Amino acid sequence: KERTLAMVKPDALSRLGDILETIHAANLIVIKAKMTTLTLSQASDFYMEHHSKPFFSNLVQFMSSGPVVAMELMGDEAIGAWRRLLGPTDSATARQEAQGSVRARFGTDGTQNAGHGSDSVASAAREVEFFFPSTAGH
Ligand code: ATP
Repeated sequence: KERTLAMVKPDALSRLGDILETIHAANLIVIKAKMTTLTLSQASDFYMEHHSKPFFSNLVQFMSSGPVVAMELMGDEAIGAWRRLLGPTDSATARQEAQGSVRARFGTDGTQNAGHGSDSVASAAREVEFFFPSTAGH
């Protein structure tokens, strides 16, 4: 079994129930969940790999504009499975190429795209720790 960090972004929070149904139907299990509103600083830390991108400022503004739900998911190939369920990054592309995906159904555009999913085992570990810090060492 693999673990991944899934996030429902502020634009799709009202669709949390639909997204949980999608997760359940795909045989993924929610291990941990948290609803929180990220500060600008926390959103910047979470997306630090994108700090030099032209869309960074819009991205962190959006990500701190309202509550998000972060979940640790577990299942067979959970990282790839959740990213496939999300669909392409740009919601418009998702509506053209991946109808039925989370971003096609609930995303708005290229930045406001309903959800996030870790893209590797390493980023899943970092992102799970970001939202659900382990107490090891305390
Ligand atoms: P995520 O990491 O959130 O799951 P992703 O892996 O599909 O999405 P990344 O390339 O990691 O996409 O970009 C992170 C986020 O930054 C995207 O989900 C989107 O919100 C925003 N973003 C990415 N590319 C663009 C772009 N060209 N214009 C505007 N926003 C973008």
